[in-house]
Amino acid sequence: MKKMLPLIALLAVVASPSLRADEAPIAIAIHGGAGTIEKSKMTPEREKAYRGKLGEALDTGYAVLEKGGASTDAVIAAIRVLESSPLFNAGRGAVYTYEGRHELDASIMDGETRQAGAVAGVRRIESPIALARMVMEKSPFVMLSGEGAETFARSQGMPLVDNALFDTEHRLKQLQKAKEKLERESREGGNHQAAVEALPTPYRMGTVGAVALDKRGNIAAGTSTGGMTAKRYGRIGDSPVIGSGTFADNNSCAVSATGHGEYFIRYTVAADICARVRYRGETLAEAAGEVINQVLLPAGGTGGVIALDPAGNIAMPFNTRGMYRASRSSVQPAEIAIFKEE
Ligand code: ASP
Repeated sequence: MKKMLPLIALLAVVASPSLRADEAPIAIAIHGGAGTIEKSKMTPEREKAYRGKLGEALDTGYAVLEKGGASTDAVIAAIRVLESSPLFNAGRGAVYTYEGRHELDASIMDGETRQAGAVAGVRRIESPIALARMVMEKSPFVMLSGEGAETFARSQGMPLVDNALFDTEHRLKQLQKAKEKLERESREGGNHQAAVEALPTPYRMGTVGAVALDKRGNIAAGTSTGGMTAKRYGRIGDSPVIGSGTFADNNSCAVSATGHGEYFIRYTVAADICARVRYRGETLAEAAGEVINQVLLPAGGTGGVIALDPAGNIAMPFNTRGMYRASRSSVQPAEIAIFKEE
């Protein structure tokens, strides 16, 4: 969203009693992954299902903010809706590792305190974002991984679930196809890891995230994912890495990313966007757009971000064909979009 309110949004504020330009602004944006999303390959039913789930997550998070809840609570509430849907690559519906399991990553950051929590490679946690929050609030650490993270979860009274809970037919088919492709590459003498990284975007698409601004002026960001199909050796992407996949600071902005994690880590995408806002005085839209299109794309990194600042401005740039995304604020009605031209 631009810094200046377009006339149409102003008219909407005047016309709708639910849009309140007079009070402290509240805002939320969510994503459900970026990549090659072709309208021609999407059935109307599938498109409806995606839009419906994005709308549900957006409304769930927005309701928390409307009631005066904290931005961290809104972020968690929205992400939990997406984690429990098999449509997205987070929680149920997560992609499979090379060995045929699910390893989940998530993180959350509170822009008021700069407290953060993250979990990486967990297998038995129903809501990785809820555990990330527990790490932030109940441990002296920022990031916990694997079995240690699960032991911590149990110590906090969080039940462990069977890894099969995250199984879905369509993700299993993707793993089988990916393995065929990788085995072909290996027979031809190719580099296995390079081949995993070269898999097309549908093999990882569907990471979820949220950013929110609450009535007290605090912002927060969170991200949750199953990572990349056929990942091996405990590979961890950008989603649980603070500063890469997730970042929030009341002095600049809140960002949740989705895309080719290795690039997002090396280019510290989320922190770079907020640093440009803070130190260069760029608008949120300029900073986010530049990092995604001028820095990441020329380097070969595909994906996008949702970003929000303490004034309630929202930016959702991506350099792929599409990104599942939605936003709503006290001055902007709900917008849900999937494809580039919307
Ligand atoms: N960023 C995620 C990862 O690399 C995947 C995605 O967002 O598409 O694990």
